[in-house]
Parts: sequence; C-alpha cells; structure tokens
Amino acid sequence: MNILRVAGMALVAGTAWVLFEWLFFVTKPSFMSLYSSWEKLSVLSSTALIVSISLLLVTIPFALAAWLLNRFKASGTTVSLVAFFPAIVLLALAMLVMIDNFTLTLFGWGIRNASGGAIYLYRGVTIELFVLAAWMLHGVLAGRYSPTTLKSLMVFTGLLLAGSIPLLWLTYTGPGEDKLVSSAGGKSLPNILILSGDGISASHMSLYGYERPTTPFLDSRRGEFLIADNHFSNASDTGGSVISLLSGKLPTTTRVVYPPDVLRGSDSFQHLPGILKKLGYYNADVSVRHYADPYDLNLRDGFAEANFRKLNETGGTLVAAIRKYPFLNPTSLLLDRISERASERFGHIWKDKKMRDPMAAVNRPDRRWLYDDGRVAEIRRLISVVSQPFFLHVHMMGTHGERFRPTRRVYSTDADYKTLWNVDGYDDAIMDFDRNVEATYKMLRDEGLLESTILVISSDHGFKHSVLDRLPMMIRLPLQEQTGAIAGNSQRLDIAPTLLAALGIRHPEWMEGQSVLAPEFSQQPDRPIFATGSRGGKSADGIFWSVSSPQPPWYSLGRLFFIRCDQGFMLRLETMEISAVKIAGSNLVCEKKLSLDEAREIMFAHLKEKDYSW
Ligand SMILES: [Zn+2]
Repeated sequence: MNILRVAGMALVAGTAWVLFEWLFFVTKPSFMSLYSSWEKLSVLSSTALIVSISLLLVTIPFALAAWLLNRFKASGTTVSLVAFFPAIVLLALAMLVMIDNFTLTLFGWGIRNASGGAIYLYRGVTIELFVLAAWMLHGVLAGRYSPTTLKSLMVFTGLLLAGSIPLLWLTYTGPGEDKLVSSAGGKSLPNILILSGDGISASHMSLYGYERPTTPFLDSRRGEFLIADNHFSNASDTGGSVISLLSGKLPTTTRVVYPPDVLRGSDSFQHLPGILKKLGYYNADVSVRHYADPYDLNLRDGFAEANFRKLNETGGTLVAAIRKYPFLNPTSLLLDRISERASERFGHIWKDKKMRDPMAAVNRPDRRWLYDDGRVAEIRRLISVVSQPFFLHVHMMGTHGERFRPTRRVYSTDADYKTLWNVDGYDDAIMDFDRNVEATYKMLRDEGLLESTILVISSDHGFKHSVLDRLPMMIRLPLQEQTGAIAGNSQRLDIAPTLLAALGIRHPEWMEGQSVLAPEFSQQPDRPIFATGSRGGKSADGIFWSVSSPQPPWYSLGRLFFIRCDQGFMLRLETMEISAVKIAGSNLVCEKKLSLDEAREIMFAHLKEKDYSW
C-alpha cells in the first residue's frame, strides 16, 4: 500500500469539495460578490488548506489500520475502503450537494422538497455515490490511473494549497482598532431587550395617532416610555436595517444593503453586541435566518446564540477554532456555508431533520415555519435560562408584507390574504405585534426583570419598505428614569449609542449615530439622516432572495434617501433622478427649505465620502 498516495488523495479530496462549492458561490451573488479577485482566490485557497489538512489528520488512523490489514493479506478493496474512508464520505457528500445544486438551479426542485418515497430514492443515491467515490479512490491504489494524471492532480492541489499563505498576507486588512470602552464602574448593568416588528409605520399605530386602535397595549403604557416623534430607518430592507441597528454604522459604510451583502473586515467585529459581550452580557438573537440573522450576515464575536442555535457550535469545532482569528473570517464564512449545506442535506435524507426553504420563510406566511408566537416562546425560554445581564435582539415577522396572515382578524377577512399589501390585514398584524409586546412586557414583569431591563420597541422600515415613513421608537428605561417625547429627527443608528449612554458608556468613534438621551439631541432639527434602498432585479437564486448581479460602482445599492426636517429626498442611482416628499406626520419644520439641487449636492457628497466612485 502506497501511504503517500493515500495522504495525497486526502488533500485532493478535501480540495475538490471546497473547489466545487467555491465555484457554486463565486458564480452567483454571494458574500463574495463584494470581494476582489484576490480575496476570492484567497478564500478558496485557505479554505481548501484547512479542509484538506483536517481530512489528512482524520485519515491517519484509517491509513494505519489499512496498512495493518495489508500486512495481514486483506483484499485490495478492503484496504482501499479503510484507508480512504474519510475521503470517500466527503466526496460522496460533495457529489450529493453538486447534484442538488444542479436540480435546484435547473428545476427549482431539490433535497429540501423531498419527502416520503423520494427520501428513500435519495438514500439510494447517497449509497451509490459512496460506492462511486470508493471505486474512484480505490483506482489510485490499484494503479488504474497513469502516474502522470496523478502527478498533475497533486501538483495542481499543491499549488492551490501553497498559495493560501501569500494570498492571506496579500488580502489581510486588519481587524480594526477597537478602543476599550470604560464601564460605569461597579453599578450592576441592566438587561437590554430590543423588540422590533418588521415594516411597521408609525402612521398605522394608534400610539402615533392612527384612528384605528391598533396598539392598545402600547397606548396604555405610553407614560412609561421615551417616545421618538420622528424616527427613521437607515435601510429599506431588513438585513441592512438590522445591521445598522446592531453596528451603529450606515449601510453606505458597511455596504450591507441587501443580500448577498454581509459584513466584511473590521465591520464584522465592531458592533453593539461585541461591546456588550466584553461587559459580560449574554447575547441572543431571535429573528429570521439569512435575511436578519446576525451570524448569516457575518456579525462575529457578538451573539452566543441566534435563531435556535448556539453559535459556538455552528460549523463544528473546526470553524469555531478558526473563527477566532479575524484574518480567517472570510475563510470561516465559506467553511461555515459549505459544511452547513452538506450537513443539512445529510440530515434531511438520513436523520429526518427537515431542511427549510429560506425563501418561503419570509414570503409565504402559510409556509413560515416559525411564527411570532414561536419567537415569543423563545423570548420566554431565553429570559428564564440565560445569565444576566442579557441582551436580546428580537425581530418579529408577522407584519412583514406583502401578504398578511394575522392571528386575529378585526379589520380584515381571510379573503384579504390574497391581496398584496392589504391595509386591513396589515393593521391586524400590527395588533398582533402589540399583543406580542404585551406578552413580553408581562414576562419581564412576572420574572421581576422589568425594572432591571431596558426595553426598546422599534421597526426596521415602513410599510412597503418605505424609508420616508416615520417609524415607532420607544425606550423604557429601568424605573422610568426618563420619559416623554424625543423631539428632532432620530434614526435606527441612534439606538446603539443610546443604549451605551444608558449604561454610562461613551459610544466608540465608529458608531455614526447619537444618543437620544443627550439633552442637546432635540436641539438639531436640521440634522441630516441618510438611508439606503436596494436595487431592483432581485431574484431567488436557489438559496434565498438577493440582488441578481451586484456590480460596481453601486453593488446592491439602488437608491439613496436623505431626510432633513420634514423634507425627504430620494435619489435613484441608475438615472440620478431626484424627488422630494414632505414627511407625513412630521412635526419638524425648518425655516429654510432645501431645493432639489441642494439636496442632490449633499447626497453626492455623502456617496463620495463613503468611497463610491462613479
Ligand atoms: Zn423588514
């Protein structure tokens, strides 16, 4: 038995799996869309190195066993099967995922749709792929391939793996200096719970004067909260808005506007949960995978758990180990994605662990596997088991359009479900949100946590993804230290600096918002607020919704919004057309109005400052 060949093939098999998956991701909108060609290559090369070395290490005991079997005159097939066992399993799984990519792309049908007899069919296919991989690898020891073929395969693999170190060195950008924040010293820190509803416009809440009583619970508690009069989103889509909330950075800074965008470089490590973690907080997220999940959006070293999984277990121990090193972050991202893709499919076929369809998750209320009552139950579980202080970020989806299926119909009927953006159904969904806020409030009270918790009520964008709509934003401080109205224009970016201020901590320079608790906050009616809107041309690419071809100079950015006083502007980047509206319900009026040209100048200057060049 040629031990060198066994070792060599372990490297080849590991590299092959990574290469196929990398090709899948690199040829469609993915987290790599914003990477340079060198960065893309670096991800391939370093991920292949990590996977193939790991496979080699796992192979060693198998190779030793095979070597012993060989000495005791076992058959050649048995020897190969034992020696290559880890590589065979990996290759069989890799081929299974490839077949699934193929059928999903071509027919929109894949393993995730399989049930009943189809499961057994896939089991048969898995076994056949295992046999095929075993046969292919057995050929290496049986001398079926010419030495030249094997040699070129090894040389190609060797070059690709050897490239990882120089490529990592070339593409490393540094983790970014994170200045240590000073704690408020000794004082016990309050818990923090941010409860957002998707796409809730303030104009549809009775709390903000809507004629229908859609928020009876919040109405009854309004005296306990600080309430922002004129609050705005920084992004028209969920992911961009969630990241601006958690990072305190504009989407034009992080470039997280719409899938496939995810955080990159130092942005992955600079955020509110990261700071809170350093202060001893236990951080958990309850939102929705892919679109709002902090981990899927590559927010690292912040949350301990998100969307029903413990993050230190995500991707297994290998990913957990390399995740600690910021310079390997893109590598851990690919490794995470591909190991999840393989294990999901394996679980669906062999372990009755059903794969989910991320597109149905947000767009088809009848197919949403997770309803807001599931999220409320998860809040209940978390606050009763996790250590304090805790930080919970919860994003409810019941108010997410374009169809609404509220749990109780007051203004709408079941038939309204068919109508897109049905206002009656939307109002009923907001009543559901209000009930969920009530349930959460009562949970905190019953656990004796209400006066040791900062409760924030928020929304990610307005009805129909509008960003020129006022949004709800309410903060309940422990012992109601501060209540009343927050005048002036505030934005989602302000929430993180506000929470830090409430803990007696000055927010770091990289946060672009301001604390609304500062007395001077309300004295700036002409404060500029920027927000992003994504490009059209979104498509379902077999994984989830994303911008179909994020290209420079704008990538997924399609529109820029600018708000000043009660004026709202929208700039379409494709045509550079600008339009203006008066913000409905705004009580901020400035003496001097901006003309369209003046607004365009300000927006151009913003884009230049954020390094967009066109
Ligand atoms: Zn949303």
